Amino acid sequence: MRREPYHFFDPLLRRAPFPWQPGFEVGPAPGVAGVTTVRMARRYAGGELMGVLCYVVGDTLVDAGLACFGPQMTQLARAAGIRRVVVTHHHEDHAGGAAALRAEGVEVLASAACGALMGSPLPIRFYQHMVWGACPPASATALPAGERIEVALGPHRAFVVPAPGHCEDQVVYHVPEQGWLFSGDAFLHERVRLFRRDEDFAATLRTLEHLVTLDFDVLFCAHRPRLTGGKAALAQKLEWLRHLEGEIRRLQGQGLPETEIARRVGLTLDRPSARVFAWLTVGDATPLNIVRSLIEGPRPRLEVDRRRHTVIR
Ligand SMILES: [Zn+2]
Repeated sequence: MRREPYHFFDPLLRRAPFPWQPGFEVGPAPGVAGVTTVRMARRYAGGELMGVLCYVVGDTLVDAGLACFGPQMTQLARAAGIRRVVVTHHHEDHAGGAAALRAEGVEVLASAACGALMGSPLPIRFYQHMVWGACPPASATALPAGERIEVALGPHRAFVVPAPGHCEDQVVYHVPEQGWLFSGDAFLHERVRLFRRDEDFAATLRTLEHLVTLDFDVLFCAHRPRLTGGKAALAQKLEWLRHLEGEIRRLQGQGLPETEIARRVGLTLDRPSARVFAWLTVGDATPLNIVRSLIEGPRPRLEVDRRRHTVIR
């Protein structure tokens, strides 16, 4: 396998002592009965880096959070009587706590593709180590593939909906009887301005086109929930990406280079914080990747066998 610099740095960064302080809060989801929000983030010098939300519904946890909050999550699992965690996708801010929960006797459920990736350590980049930390391997029970697969979310039944795009293995959990959608990272923002290199524009569009046909109002996004008007927010994201697609294709037809296309459609690092983040990610998460993903397709991670969704050593 061809290797990139982060493959060499990953083993060192796994042992590096990042000077973060924990931010961990548990509370009711405002205005939504029966759902508890678990918010966790690493703080550096008082400033919080991109935190993540998990949700407790009865005896079920949606996503496992960061590995470094394993002790808090197992304590929560004991106190709240959590018996299972359903994972949306393999990223370290969603699957990181699965190993600790599994050791506590909590059943871990994930898509077959997600479970395969969770089963062995996946090399990650510097910014991922800094912001979230690595994901220890965890075995997961594979959710069945197919249409209308159901899983228990506490007292409710949720449908497992494949939602590739952000990554191939992502699923979201739809609870029609309550009007809820637990969307993992399928939403993130109405006007997303960054893509990782491996994010798939075309698949994201197809996923959003399907999700807006579902019946829900509460969007339990793992980063920016929309507890009212969630479906409208998701539809806005779809409209934004369609607008970008139209403009990018038009400018591509004029023979412009990708960097110029990105500039003309406003996908630039205009804010200092965006510039710092793109610099930290060494180009892994940038506005330009949105243009690239549409024109060239996503750039899959070298260490992932896309056919079998396993980690290449
Ligand atoms: Zn993600």
